[in-house]
Amino acid sequence: MSEEKSLNFIEEIISEDLASGKYASILTRFPPEPNGYLHIGHAKSICLNFGLAKKFGGKTNLRFDDTNPAKEDIEYVDSIKEDVKWLGFEWEKECYASDYFDQLYAFAVQLIEKGLAYVDDSTAEEIAQQKGTPTVPGTGNAFRNRSIEENLELFAGMKAGKYADGEKVLRAKIDLASPNMHMRDPLLYRIKRAHHHRTGDTWCIYPMYDFAHGQSDSIENITHSICTLEFIPHRSLYDWCIEQLGIYPSHQYEFARLNMTYTVMSKRKLLQLVEDGLVESWDDPRMPTISGMRRRGYTPESIRDFCERIGIAKRENIIDFSLLEFCVREHLNKVAMRRMVVTNPIKLVITNFDKGEEILLSENNPEDPNGGTREVPFSNELWIEREDFMEEPTKKYFRLGPGLSVRLKSAYIVTCENFEKDAAGNITTVYASYNPQSKSGQDTSGIHVKGTLHWVSAKHAVPVLLNEYDRLFNVEDLSSADGDFKDDINPTSLNIVNAYAEPALASDPLDVRFQFLRKGYFYQDTKSTKDKLIFNRTVGLKDAWAKEQKK
Ligand code: ATP
Ligand code: MG
Repeated sequence: MSEEKSLNFIEEIISEDLASGKYASILTRFPPEPNGYLHIGHAKSICLNFGLAKKFGGKTNLRFDDTNPAKEDIEYVDSIKEDVKWLGFEWEKECYASDYFDQLYAFAVQLIEKGLAYVDDSTAEEIAQQKGTPTVPGTGNAFRNRSIEENLELFAGMKAGKYADGEKVLRAKIDLASPNMHMRDPLLYRIKRAHHHRTGDTWCIYPMYDFAHGQSDSIENITHSICTLEFIPHRSLYDWCIEQLGIYPSHQYEFARLNMTYTVMSKRKLLQLVEDGLVESWDDPRMPTISGMRRRGYTPESIRDFCERIGIAKRENIIDFSLLEFCVREHLNKVAMRRMVVTNPIKLVITNFDKGEEILLSENNPEDPNGGTREVPFSNELWIEREDFMEEPTKKYFRLGPGLSVRLKSAYIVTCENFEKDAAGNITTVYASYNPQSKSGQDTSGIHVKGTLHWVSAKHAVPVLLNEYDRLFNVEDLSSADGDFKDDINPTSLNIVNAYAEPALASDPLDVRFQFLRKGYFYQDTKSTKDKLIFNRTVGLKDAWAKEQKK
């Protein structure tokens, strides 16, 4: 983070807390529930939590908030760890809320002993009904007056498996008339017989989010517990539990969650896309998941840059997806290797080239002086793009057409002499002569041309498949769409294109980022093999975001 930038509201709080001596150092945490793969919204939370610790010389724990066994899985734990590491962050401790189950149980017993929690036999419906509404106070029930001894015994019975799922719950005894519905005797524990991916079948009662999260923060001595705005109404309960238990006073701070155009941002919805086969997998390159973005070719640097640029807010908003693409393009322009690939080919025959082949050198990256060069074979039969030839060129057409000259990238200037069509009237072959004095880098021809075309030598060309992606959804703002969000899916979000590539691509390592000249940025797909090379279009060259800003 640059020094000149003013502090955001959380940074201000932290710097005051450090200046006043409230804390000697800070400890934050990133607390995902392992019930899905992380998405770009989580990346924002990761960059914030780890970024704050980095900036203020503190540390960050990675804590799995694994208190809901039914939906959680070890596969998700592994993917989350991989994603956080890939984004470039190192956690201090790897923690699991489930490691605190004994401690949390003891906390609950403590509350019962203080007369601050009771076992309720009511059904979920009855509890909801008795809770009242924001304007009507709730009504108590007979269970609320159970003795401490009875509650201790019943709660022990819940733990021992004496009761059926849903038969009883443990509730905090706070205030049934509180204007904050979360304070109207919230649930602390429920009975649920479900296999937990870490604790197995040891437990048949599980703590609710509100009786696990704050306490876990406290157990770890988290100083600044940062979460999204929907947890504001939970804060009173967070503080109440810590106060009543007399444990380490962690504090909760809230910021606005990230929403982005043309996509959904919830693990639950993303899971539906996977389960319904609307995408290939969690790491489908069209998904807003970190793993999807990684497979597509986004770089960790560009995602961190994006999170930095959008900053943090106290109010919900929706960020234009093209801002993220802008960040990706900015970084890739600096690091991507330039290569030539032709997607819709016509043959270009160089009539006066009789050397068989010539190996030319081409810069890997004009933005990078240390980028080096690669060998590009040139011969008398090349593939060029169909759209780079016009039978009857219009005035401002600076590509090929009868009598027109262009430069072939890193090679020679050629002049079109002639062309051939098939029976259907499609151009099949274009004939041109080259100027031997016009070689790139040592051009003494004195000829000036306006257009430069990419090309591939036909006999050296390597067949490849390109995955060209479009938005996953047709609708810009899906933040309020719920069950019907799948209706808005873009049926043509993937277009698979056959192409001819220069031979260097066949031997380039897997993790190289490419710019295919005049086409966009590409990255080799995880399913690509030596026999079947597949490249994903990371992002196009056109900069919709910058254009939008100039309007
Ligand atoms: P989802 O609805 O996608 O499952 P979640 O909030 O339930 O999201 P968690 O695994 O509980 O997911 O989130 C871990 C952390 O990431 C939390 O602190 C949460 O506030 C934060 N987070 C989740 N989504 C976003 C988002 N869109 N923008 C910023 N932070 C987010
Ligand atoms: Mg959650």
